[in-house]
Amino acid sequence: MIPLAKPYLTEEEAQAAYDTILSGWITQGPRVQEFEEKFAVYTGAPYAVAVSNCTTALHLSMIVAGVGPGDEVICPSLSYIATANAIRYVGATPVFADVLKGSSNLDPVETEKKITSKTRAILVVHQLGMPADINAFHELCGKYQLQLIEDAACAAGSQYMGNKIGFHSELVCFSFHPRKVISTGDGGMITTNRKDYYERLKLLRQHGMSVNDRVRHESDKLIFEEYLEVGYNYRMTDIQASVGIRQLEKLDWIVKERRKIAAQYNTAFNHVPGIILPQEEDGSYCNYQSYSVYLSKDCVIDRNTLMQALLDAGIASRRGVMTIHREKAYQQYNQEELPVSEDINERSIILPLFIPMAQEEVQQVVNVFLRLLFPVPVATGQ
Ligand SMILES: *Cc1c(COP(=O)(O)O)cnc(C)c1O
Repeated sequence: MIPLAKPYLTEEEAQAAYDTILSGWITQGPRVQEFEEKFAVYTGAPYAVAVSNCTTALHLSMIVAGVGPGDEVICPSLSYIATANAIRYVGATPVFADVLKGSSNLDPVETEKKITSKTRAILVVHQLGMPADINAFHELCGKYQLQLIEDAACAAGSQYMGNKIGFHSELVCFSFHPRKVISTGDGGMITTNRKDYYERLKLLRQHGMSVNDRVRHESDKLIFEEYLEVGYNYRMTDIQASVGIRQLEKLDWIVKERRKIAAQYNTAFNHVPGIILPQEEDGSYCNYQSYSVYLSKDCVIDRNTLMQALLDAGIASRRGVMTIHREKAYQQYNQEELPVSEDINERSIILPLFIPMAQEEVQQVVNVFLRLLFPVPVATGQ
């Protein structure tokens, strides 16, 4: 069976976790701080705050951005449900805007149409690692005095206009779930260029405590902590962070390897009628967290038939990204139709892409796929 994805973890990550476990300091401590500092350097952001996952990163970002009850936040529906859930955690209302057909990312024109006097923020997603048009959203946010938050759950190692994702905005949220490009089991990170946000994020992730455990532990003077506001326990552990440090060292290499496989798929499927491939805009560099192709109405086979046929051949695949507005948990929002998002969800298929993926495995996916799409057997050099 060829799986859809698997995390790239080695003896090095296992050794790092082992060492941390025996160090005596296992929850948020020196390894978390090191991971944060290295992640900030990697992205070029002044500050980084590690948290338990990207969903909690998004929740804390909503809080520091001042989003609350009565506010509206515009986001795509074509995303993982955590994107919109984070908006609801603070009592605000998600307002869904449609996406662009090419990138599957939020459409700036559709987004502007959804802005009202209640809009407080735009939550833009870099779907499947493909960078959204950040500059267009900065412009919108400047024009209407809104906060821009990036859901970069899938986008560690992707680039926009020559800089790593994480560099461009006041609040950028990452995930280290095993389905993403690098993993700490579960885990998240927020990069920010605002010192006030940085300080408040550190408070909020640890119960609102004025001093963290490590400062108190290392102090030669007696320190009593205070609780400055109601916070959360959204800590990352040092065990996770020690794995994350090793993963971060490999991130650029992992992205390069992923891009090689994506390029092989692109070459193989380039001229197949009815297949639309993922497309990088000028200035964007995608980590290919997932490789998704769109089957248009001209395609000779429908998406679900193709998925079943791949499964029969021992190849895992997934449907395109979900649409949040059509889930039961969102039915009270009574949102209007989002034709592009719905179409992408129904007509896309995500193909296996992981590191290391053997050449034979890539070729097997390509062969099965092409054999199904062409009513006559593909020429194999006869
Ligand atoms: C995976 C994902 C999340 C959630 O990340 P977790 O770390 O699992 O909480 C949020 N948004 C998007 C777009 C995702 O793909």
